[in-house]
Amino acid sequence: MKVTFLGAAQTVTGSCFLVETGDKRFLVDCGMFQGRDEELNETPFYFDVKTIDFVLLSHAHIDHSGRIPKLVKEGYTGPVYSSKATADLCSILLPDSGHIHEMEAEWQNRKRARAGKEPVEPLYTAEEAQQSLKYFKYHFYNDRFSVDENISVRFRDAGHILGSSIVEIWINENGTETKLVFSGDLGQKNQPILRDPSIIEDADYLFIESTYGSRTHEAPEGRVEKLYSIIDKTVKRGGNVVIPSFAVGRTQELLYHINKLKEDKEHRYLKGVKVFVDSPLAISATKIFEENPQCYDEETLNLLKSGDNPFEFEDLYFTRTTEESMKINEIKGGAVIISASGMCNAGRIKHHLKYNLWKPECTVLFVGYQAEGTLGRIIKDGVKKVKILGDEISVQAEVENIEGFSGHADRDGLMEWLEGFSVRPGKIFVVHGEAESSMEFARSIRERLGIEAVIPKLGQTVEIKGESIKEIEREAKPAGKELEKVKEMTTKIMQMKTEFMELMEGIQQDVAAGSVRVEDAGKSIDGIYEFLQKYKEAAATKN
Ligand SMILES: [Zn+2]
Repeated sequence: MKVTFLGAAQTVTGSCFLVETGDKRFLVDCGMFQGRDEELNETPFYFDVKTIDFVLLSHAHIDHSGRIPKLVKEGYTGPVYSSKATADLCSILLPDSGHIHEMEAEWQNRKRARAGKEPVEPLYTAEEAQQSLKYFKYHFYNDRFSVDENISVRFRDAGHILGSSIVEIWINENGTETKLVFSGDLGQKNQPILRDPSIIEDADYLFIESTYGSRTHEAPEGRVEKLYSIIDKTVKRGGNVVIPSFAVGRTQELLYHINKLKEDKEHRYLKGVKVFVDSPLAISATKIFEENPQCYDEETLNLLKSGDNPFEFEDLYFTRTTEESMKINEIKGGAVIISASGMCNAGRIKHHLKYNLWKPECTVLFVGYQAEGTLGRIIKDGVKKVKILGDEISVQAEVENIEGFSGHADRDGLMEWLEGFSVRPGKIFVVHGEAESSMEFARSIRERLGIEAVIPKLGQTVEIKGESIKEIEREAKPAGKELEKVKEMTTKIMQMKTEFMELMEGIQQDVAAGSVRVEDAGKSIDGIYEFLQKYKEAAATKN
């Protein structure tokens, strides 16, 4: 059989693997490329969509599921197998993603219309995403099911987000059975609500994620205490706590912790503090959490049995409508406002920042990763003034950060999971990580476990035959090579962006320090400026 790496190879997004057996072709994940690699979403699929027999989906995160609507839009009509909670979460996340694509296209088209250019189409619409949902077929964890007479599949709990799965696949080719295991994204142990990642017994070939393959997380101890003390001190001085949070996962985790504090029989912490979940997506996601208790760990199940629903407590408000959301702006103090997006670049959180960021009695609390260039990162890095929704806001509120909230196992966690195999995998493909992270993790695997570990390239195909494995020529289809070219180019552009900024700042600093003459600096700037203008003119006449 052949496996082609069409995403999440030396990068973290766009997870997609094409597996071809004697008579079947299927995908494991069909995710969206994000951030630096976003452009790759526009490239045509490497394969003929109509020749794909089925899709196996590890979990609902958009970088694993986000191109399923594109697949259906282009004519795919086969089943998408996933766990039940994954299918449920996709029913809100995929239409939401479609909505974002529509808004992006609309924004671009306004610009293009002004420049007299043809409009562009969104990758897919909310409606098209809705259409793709009818192809989902779910199975519960640990239930081995046959896709056909030669292929069977089992989803195991990956402990990463609700419904996240490790995918076990048994493939029979000419009487020989080969077992592939795709780790999907693996969670951290001892997280609230979710169980720890399942231990897998054996695999011939393992495809493992390596997001944190070269790093270790800060110990999670003290996180809840810190959460409590930040809310407590802010409320006592008359302010609100604004928490930018991802709608799925992190929001529910926060509610779980706040519920425990509030329902502590002895202390009744945070009594009277109002908690708002102000994000329609987060509210829908919380409902899906409540509808899927089969995914809970023992502690959460016991909590439920004792009559305590972790997503229900005194003074908790879910504000779905815009009117309800705007009413929160009138609250001067004593409230915790959990809102999305988690990195503050879109959504209702921007309004809450606008109303609270300039007040010294308030706190903005970060509980998740803030990517470079996002509003969240800028605030977290400590700027004094930011522009939000057209207004300049002075940052007076306290900015706090709690580390250690992460949906991904770190290097030690991944290694511990690997050591759990009773029969070790014959060969390991390290995927879903930046090149450096994957490389370091592959080295750890080789050194500590003595298993051959390789890092596939984007677009690469390998042939697997029993014990042997060999890299084969990429088929003469352009899309595979195209993927690599576009990726190379976008990487270069990102690099140039940083270098350009550094160069400009450098010149500015040199001039300020008097180490370079103003005239000389001016000449360099004029040269660069002239080049940019020429390029812009050339581009304008071409389009
Ligand atoms: Zn994920």
